[in-house]
Amino acid sequence: MSDPIVIGILGGGQLGRMLAMAAARLGFEVVILDPDPKAPAAQVANRHLVAAYDDPAALAKLAELCDIVTYEFENVPDAAIHTLDDRVTVHPNATALATAQDRLIEKAFLVEQGIGTAPFRTVDNQEQLESAVEELGGEAILKTRRFGYDGKGQMRVVSGSDHSTAFADLGSVPLIAEGIIDFVAELSVIIGRGADGRCRIYDPATNEHVDGILKTSSVPGALDEETVELAKQSAAALASALDYVGVLGLELFLLADGSVLANEFAPRVHNSGHWTEAACAVSQFELHIRAIAGLALPSVERHSDAVMTNLIGDDVTLVSDLLAEPDTVVHLYGKSEVRPGRKMGHVTTITRR
Ligand code: AMP
Repeated sequence: MSDPIVIGILGGGQLGRMLAMAAARLGFEVVILDPDPKAPAAQVANRHLVAAYDDPAALAKLAELCDIVTYEFENVPDAAIHTLDDRVTVHPNATALATAQDRLIEKAFLVEQGIGTAPFRTVDNQEQLESAVEELGGEAILKTRRFGYDGKGQMRVVSGSDHSTAFADLGSVPLIAEGIIDFVAELSVIIGRGADGRCRIYDPATNEHVDGILKTSSVPGALDEETVELAKQSAAALASALDYVGVLGLELFLLADGSVLANEFAPRVHNSGHWTEAACAVSQFELHIRAIAGLALPSVERHSDAVMTNLIGDDVTLVSDLLAEPDTVVHLYGKSEVRPGRKMGHVTTITRR
């Protein structure tokens, strides 16, 4: 018998955990690199390297142990990917990661591909901030270009109000100012692309956020067919332009006329795609593993409609009741400590079509 193929995952949170479980089902071994000794993914992986993401010895070890390396979050240091790239196959590629890491580069890239976004301006100091807000119609959302998540590192500013300290309040780091989009809904598309360029695209979900954190994803999301097609085409154009291998999540705004604008993309499996594990034969996690391992990509048609709800903080106390509900799949992340705002698990209720 030949040795098992080993997949390395940078990041051991819940996304890494669900990737590891999908990989195990297909017969792969998994090594996690995560500095947290209690990383949720480590509970379901073959091996856990407890080290910083830029630790040269740990990266060398990961490359030595693994045949393929992937990641579960986009704030992996560039240097880690480049170090690994020289020694082992890494998917998704470094360009996809670098593009997603910086909102300015990301938006410019999307526009280059013909995918519309909110109007935006670069902001590197308080003076530029003032003129950007004026140019964007007197109201804008400021976002740090890098390292923002779940609405963190953001601020809404309106001209005429006192925002003279806004640049400093956001940490005096490079920002992007975006015009306010008057959207009617937020949606997302999960796409998987193989090295041969073939894509599989799940039906888009509509998403609701509470306090900047995703709360529910629903499929179908009360979207007309044209919007669904537009959203899927945008995801396909993006994945192809990035020469992407693996699963990617594209977040979009739906406008009143049925058109869409891209907000951002994640070069990884995405929270708004968790419903796929309950409503499709092959989940986004398995699709990602198949794509990066060069295996066949299956149909991603859904057999059921679905509503996925994140269990955030104390919501996790509802689990025993949820388990008694019909057609309801509970997935917990193995986090022992409950904290407000912490994603503890999710639950998907399906309705057969
Ligand atoms: P983000 O971190 O970019 O995903 O932004 C977090 C949330 O802020 C989004 O899910 C939207 O609800 C809202 N938001 C972000 N950008 C804009 C925008 N340009 N116009 C209106 N709402 C926005």
